[in-house]
Amino acid sequence: MNATLLTASAPTRARFSFEVFPARSGAAALALGHAVQHLSAAGPDFISVTYGANGSNRDASLDLLKYLRDHTDALPLAHLTTVTEDRETLLAAVHAVMDAGVHDFLALRGDPPRGVGEDDPRVSGSLSALELTELIAQARAERPAFTSVGRTAVAAYPNGHPLSRSRAEDIEWLIAKQEAGAQFAITQLFFAAEEYLSFVSEAQSAGLTIPVLPGLMPVSTSGQLRKVAQLAGRPAPVELERELEEAGGYAPELGVEHTVALAEELLAGGAPSIHLYTFNRHEQVLAVLRALRLLTPDPVGA
Ligand code: FAD
Repeated sequence: MNATLLTASAPTRARFSFEVFPARSGAAALALGHAVQHLSAAGPDFISVTYGANGSNRDASLDLLKYLRDHTDALPLAHLTTVTEDRETLLAAVHAVMDAGVHDFLALRGDPPRGVGEDDPRVSGSLSALELTELIAQARAERPAFTSVGRTAVAAYPNGHPLSRSRAEDIEWLIAKQEAGAQFAITQLFFAAEEYLSFVSEAQSAGLTIPVLPGLMPVSTSGQLRKVAQLAGRPAPVELERELEEAGGYAPELGVEHTVALAEELLAGGAPSIHLYTFNRHEQVLAVLRALRLLTPDPVGA
């Protein structure tokens, strides 16, 4: 079959990727192993693995990246944070990830550890995500065989990062990260498509050229919805909040419904793909993809 013709005539399906975090117990690790098999079988562009600020779960992150590399078909992507870490430690951490055969990174500053303020010198003196992006490029340059292997992603904030004073400042900073070598961005959670679409449109007018993947999380509980609202920096949709409460605080299908509607608007508005925060479960995110017709029946079986 002629691959070029196939590509030219086939309708382009939107793409997707997932985020997981290291398990915090043996039982959770078993459940996560099961979940990532299903996630991998869905054929994502990558599965990203979170990293505890100040290196608190560095080994667990690395173990999970290795598990993905050795036991699934998915491309692992390593989150890395700088908070409270010095340059040497960070460079060693980048090399450790590369030694594990993982070459894709999400370069982050990370949040301050619990009880430590933004103005604490251990936090304010940390490298920024921009400097980490440069450090990852340096680590690649130290290994000529891998210089052109792997991509670096960075975070973007459609509703603004708490440290920035305006959208313009957030956009300027994202463009600076692009200039430092970032090849794509993944957003913080948000509730309304317009928040993402207007942010990307303004950023593109200001010179952003890299793709910005919208980060979406189908919530199951009222507690998760409150957490998302906190991260999004916006109140949760009143109707979703009410419906979840009426369902006794737990209704995974409502989170799926809301995420499907949001993803449809985003993809129709030009989002290049969707990045799904899985909360280490596969059922809800696969239900979202199925409803969006981005998934053939789950090959592993539900
Ligand atoms: P930076 O890009 O360094 O800065 C954040 C903001 O500060 C900028 O957007 C800008 O508004 C402002 N700013 C900083 N420096 C400047 C400057 N010189 N000039 C102007 N403005 C500046 N945290 C974890 O601990 N582990 C994770 O695994 C993790 N994964 C995440 C994944 C995604 C997709 C997202 C969106 C966030 C994630 N976070 C994670 C949270 C993130 O680390 C925090 O939001 C942190 O507070 C900021 O990190 P950053 O990389 O965006 O920082």
